[in-house]
Amino acid sequence: MEIAPGIHRITTPLGEGESARRCDLYLLAGQDRSILFDSGIDGTIPRYVLPYLAEHNLDPASVELVVASHCDVDHFGGLADSQQAFKRAQLVAHPADAGLIADFATYKAGRGNPFEAIYGLAELPATQEWQRAVTRSAPPNKLVLGGEQASLGGRTVEFQHLPGHTLGHLALWDAANAALILADAVLGAAVPTASGEPAFPPTYRHVVPYLETIARIQALRPDILATAHYGVYEGSAVVSFLAESQAFVLDLGWRLETALRAGGPGGTTLPELIAELNPRIGDWPKAQSATALAFPVVGHIEDLATKGRLLIDLAVQPAQLKWL
Ligand SMILES: [Zn+2]
Repeated sequence: MEIAPGIHRITTPLGEGESARRCDLYLLAGQDRSILFDSGIDGTIPRYVLPYLAEHNLDPASVELVVASHCDVDHFGGLADSQQAFKRAQLVAHPADAGLIADFATYKAGRGNPFEAIYGLAELPATQEWQRAVTRSAPPNKLVLGGEQASLGGRTVEFQHLPGHTLGHLALWDAANAALILADAVLGAAVPTASGEPAFPPTYRHVVPYLETIARIQALRPDILATAHYGVYEGSAVVSFLAESQAFVLDLGWRLETALRAGGPGGTTLPELIAELNPRIGDWPKAQSATALAFPVVGHIEDLATKGRLLIDLAVQPAQLKWL
């Protein structure tokens, strides 16, 4: 559906059954050209995007840029399809995420299963298999840092670099609509299923950049916040989503610090911390959410280590986390 003049939201399914989620892609269309923001998983483009374009009389040849908002498979797994469907289009990513998008082994080590080697917490085998099965990527061939403008004809949009969920997360600012096309740059207090139930914790990964991203969006004061998994927020709902996202970070940070202090100089491990924290926060199903919670928890751990309050002892495996 067209959520604002020239902004099309294309809703696609992600997974099946009770835990199925939804992933929204956006097409920003102008008089001369258009930008597809995200390409979903392998098969999303032919199954959902091309039929949407046909139904709304939008010419696939007008798509000149396909943006991979960040290095998660539900956002870049359909890049090979995009390359085929939109032959004139350049594939856009931020340099911090481009390597993970271009090469699956790099993705797997850095994003798909990033906590096993050091912290002793492996992603579920079924999730790792799913990541592989839904990904047919293509290397980005246009890198942007944020601040670049793209003219669509009749209006101009601007790339925004909004790190936190990943280091190279991109968004698009459509000033004419006061709309920020956000994908996963801000993640609320839980990532929802398609029916709106909590599926797993907000997977921000870099605490300080994430809080700065939230503050930047607050200063930008968008009327419309178009997300990948939460739908579209407008007006006061934008303000409360940002506030809820920020509050979660402060709450988890405090709970984590309390748990680490209790661990004392003897230390604790990531799997132990997750086992203690996960039952106490959020309403998401606990059985399958340990690795999702590891993203923000490791983010906070690294932040505390950077500030000299925690030692990550890598001499043992899994790494011991010692409060200083
Ligand atoms: Zn996502």
